[in-house]
Amino acid sequence: MIHGSCLCGSTKFTLHGKLRSARFCYCTNCTKFAGTSPATWAMADRASLRFEAQDAPVTKFNSGRGKRCFCATCGSPVWFESLEHPETYAIPLGVLDDGDIPMPAMNLWTRSKPGWCSINNDLPGYETDPWMDQNMNKPVFRPARKQDCPVIAALYRISSDGVAEYIWSQLAQPGEDPLTVGEQRYAREDTVFSYLNCTVIELDDRVIGMLVAFPMHADPAEVESDPVLAPYSRLEEDDSYYICGMAVMPEYRGRGLGTRLLALAEEQAVNKGFDKLSLVVFEQNSGAKKLYDRHGYREAGREAVVPHPSIHYTGDAILMVKELDRH
Ligand SMILES: [Zn+2]
Ligand SMILES: [Zn+2]
Repeated sequence: MIHGSCLCGSTKFTLHGKLRSARFCYCTNCTKFAGTSPATWAMADRASLRFEAQDAPVTKFNSGRGKRCFCATCGSPVWFESLEHPETYAIPLGVLDDGDIPMPAMNLWTRSKPGWCSINNDLPGYETDPWMDQNMNKPVFRPARKQDCPVIAALYRISSDGVAEYIWSQLAQPGEDPLTVGEQRYAREDTVFSYLNCTVIELDDRVIGMLVAFPMHADPAEVESDPVLAPYSRLEEDDSYYICGMAVMPEYRGRGLGTRLLALAEEQAVNKGFDKLSLVVFEQNSGAKKLYDRHGYREAGREAVVPHPSIHYTGDAILMVKELDRH
C-alpha cells in the first residue's frame, strides 16, 4: 500500500497496487505545472486508487493530452489523468508519503529541458516520450480531395510565410477573405496550384499537414511583372520536382512529420522521373533552412526579398536544390 497526500492534507489517496514506469519528465508542461524541472512521475492503475476524502478540493486543468489535477487549497499536484489511457493515472512521486516507491528509471522529453536544469543521472534519456508516440494513432498520408481545399489553403498560408496572403489579397474582392480566394484557387484542376498536386496528413479524421509539389518547368521568357513576386519567379530550377509548400499544424510539429513529407516528395519525384528536387526558403526561417540542409538540399541561388507588410521575412530568399542519386 502506498499513501499520498497534498501539502495541506485535504487531498489524500491510497494506492492498492504497484507503481511502475517511474520517470523524470523535462517537458514544458510539467516544468510549468511543477514550477521546476524535472517533474517525477510513476504510473498507477486507476482501479487501484482509493481517495480518502471524496470531497477533496481537487481542481483539474486539461493541458492537452490529459488533466493535471491539483489541490485547490494548497496547489500541490496530486495526479494526472491521461485522456488517451483513462485506465492509467500518473502520480507525482513528491506527494507520496510511504510504501513501495519506485526509483525513476528514465529521462523523458530531454529536448524540452530548461537551460538552467542539468541532468544529474546516467539513466537512459529520450528526446520525447517514445511510448506516447507509439500510442498515438497513426497519421495517414493520402492524396488530397476537393473538399480538403479549405484546410489546404489554411496550411498553404502557413507554409508560404505571407506570399500566399499577398497573392490572394490582390485577387480578393473588397471585403472578401483572402483565405476564401486560396480555397477557390486550390479547387481548380487546370493549374499546378491545385488540390490534385497536394498530399495531406490525416489524423483522427482531421487534416494536420500537407505537401504541395509538382514538376517545375521554368520559362525564362515569362517575366513576373509584380515586383514583390519577381524574386521568387527568378528562383526556379528548370526540370526539377518543386516543393511548393509544406506545412504541419503547430501542435503536431517535432514528430518527424516534416521529414516524412520530404521523403514523400522525393518518392513522387523519382516516380515521375525527376533527378532533382527544388524549393525556396527564406534565409531568416532558420528552422526550415536547417531541415532542408540536413536532408541534402544545397543553395542554388538567392534573391533579395522585396519587403512588404504581408511577407513575414526580409533578407534573402534561397533556392535550394537536392540532386537525387539515381543508383
Ligand atoms: Zn492541499
Ligand atoms: Zn512532462
